[in-house]
Amino acid sequence: SSSVTLKNVAKTFTTPAGEMAFAVKDVNLAVEPGQLVTLLGPSGCGKTTTLRMLAGFETPSSGDIFIGPQKVTTVPPNKRDVGMVFQSYALFPHLSVYDNIAYGLAIKKVPKEQLASRVKKVLQLMHLDELQDRFPAQLSGGQQQRVALARSVVTEPRVLLFDEPLSNLDAKLREYMRDELRKLQQSLGITSLYVTHDQSEALAISDMVVIMNKGSVQQIGTPRDIYLQPQNRFVADFMGKANFLSAKVKEWRGTEAAIEWAGGVIRVETKRRMSEGQQVDCVVRPEFWTLDPSGEFEGRVLRTTYLGTHVEYEISIGSDIVTMYDYQHHVNGVSPQGERVRLR
Ligand code: ADP
Ligand code: MG
Repeated sequence: SSSVTLKNVAKTFTTPAGEMAFAVKDVNLAVEPGQLVTLLGPSGCGKTTTLRMLAGFETPSSGDIFIGPQKVTTVPPNKRDVGMVFQSYALFPHLSVYDNIAYGLAIKKVPKEQLASRVKKVLQLMHLDELQDRFPAQLSGGQQQRVALARSVVTEPRVLLFDEPLSNLDAKLREYMRDELRKLQQSLGITSLYVTHDQSEALAISDMVVIMNKGSVQQIGTPRDIYLQPQNRFVADFMGKANFLSAKVKEWRGTEAAIEWAGGVIRVETKRRMSEGQQVDCVVRPEFWTLDPSGEFEGRVLRTTYLGTHVEYEISIGSDIVTMYDYQHHVNGVSPQGERVRLR
């Protein structure tokens, strides 16, 4: 397994009107051997274009791509030793599961016995042994995606690339496959780049997450970093529900700050440099609020939504409206619209 490095990689296209447009702008990224790194961002932000440049289907307009120490910027796809899994499974319809998986090895002219033992090993690993004689049309979506995965790992590529591989599956199966895929990737230790627009999928499977918007990298970090220490408003907003509170710094001590808001004080962990009295945007995640009769913020319930795992409240506090999640509603009950509540 190899490292993957992107150095100042950009890709421009000419629009039908004849203007130059960036699909990807100045991307710098270093993926360590064996890591799974996710490219996450809204539709059109440049995820697929980045992956296609890694695979060799597109050539960067500028910048360089390395796999391990080897510069591969202009190396053709079949010479890169990279495996790719797509949203559409792209299985050969006229080949059995076994032959679909064996295909890549046959092309590489791997000797017969070795081919058979490697296919058998992957069939077992992916729990596909009993399906090996079936054709793709005789498989469910989840089974087809398992075959596509098996086919991509059997050649033991240096790098695996995934472009939204689970988006055709229903929610339950998607979660199951997500965990299976992560387990497989870790057990094989293959460096992987994974594209998704689904925040929870990215948080669940990644060593590192790369947040992209309009072709540019917004932040690179661990899932925890991205969720709890967003570097800008776009990241905070994209990674889940966020209350943006216009507030004032009361005190700043390196990694901790006390922020004045709505007559109370919010204590936050921060990596930002601040000064006393400075106006700031403070981001509070909905699950950080707690309903508490002795809480320092008083508000009024505007709306409640029952969501099973939690109740979503909209509460007016001072001149702001905040969203709060109550995961203890089975104990607390639900406060009706109009009720005065206290939060901490
Ligand atoms: P994502 O996968 O994040 O949805 P893409 O990488 O597919 O985004 O696309 C990024 C941008 O580049 C989009 O604005 C898209 O329209 C544009 N783009 C992608 N491929 C081409 C192409 N072959 N020609 C022109 N524009 C393209
Ligand atoms: Mg895409």
